[in-house]
Amino acid sequence: MPDYDQYNPDSGRFQRFTQKQMREAYKVLYQEVLVSREAANITARLVVEQIARVEEVNQSLAQANEELKKLTNLDGLTGIANRRYHDDVINREWRRCQRTNSSLAAIMIDIDHFKLYNDHYGHITGDHCLQQVAKELQRGARRVSDSVARYGGEEFVCLMPDCSAEAAINVAELIRQRIRKLQIPHATSKIDTILTVSQGVAAMVPSRDSVPSELIRRADKALYQAKMLGRDRVVVYDESMADSCPHVHNGTRTDPDTASG
Ligand code: GH3
Ligand code: MG
Ligand code: MG
Repeated sequence: MPDYDQYNPDSGRFQRFTQKQMREAYKVLYQEVLVSREAANITARLVVEQIARVEEVNQSLAQANEELKKLTNLDGLTGIANRRYHDDVINREWRRCQRTNSSLAAIMIDIDHFKLYNDHYGHITGDHCLQQVAKELQRGARRVSDSVARYGGEEFVCLMPDCSAEAAINVAELIRQRIRKLQIPHATSKIDTILTVSQGVAAMVPSRDSVPSELIRRADKALYQAKMLGRDRVVVYDESMADSCPHVHNGTRTDPDTASG
């Protein structure tokens, strides 16, 4: 290697390096390159590790969010969907049926004389009974698109997209029989010795100016008629019920047994 003139920017002059000095300088330079390469490798490894950790945290957060979403949509006592979930589904399905011009059906299901059941067997057994009924309703949901939810108290609601009133009546009748088959004793019921349910059915093809609550209002009116007619039965809504007494939920409704007219 020949001697070498190297420009020194500090002094502004060329400086002559001997071969030995050049070799030393290359050696130092090479060491620096090795050290820098190692540092770059370590930094890259750290970055990869950090990215993996961030991804892990993101995944756990997404999982936690999903769990939370499930929990906020579930009824604490029965484990089936709750009223909030039902409200979401009915709004969504209402819009979908509006677009596709298809029928959305609802069944309101109410346990007969459940207050008397609680009074006789106690609240804990009452809770267990609600769990049994909820489980049976869930099991009985025919299609994946059907949804069953606890509407509140001893009332449940089943929503069935693309389902006519006639088909919904059949489902409700099956539900009635399934609940009877559970053979839950109800010694103080005024209509039987086992637990029974009354059901109101309604179906609508959502028009542009109608709202989902109208479907529930109709199913409610039909349910009220089912109670009036003696309970343990299925009644489907018809226009003659439009002006009938509204069914108010959870004990504040006029009792059909004592209602006048
Ligand atoms: P009807 O046949 O007219 O529906 O009579 P009912 O007694 O079933 O109706 P009412 O509305 O008078 O009473 C509902 C009862 O449901 C009263 C309440 O104590 C009971 N209930 C509501 N929620 C729960 C609950 O979470 N657990 C228990 N054990 N009972 C409940
Ligand atoms: Mg009831
Ligand atoms: Mg009720």
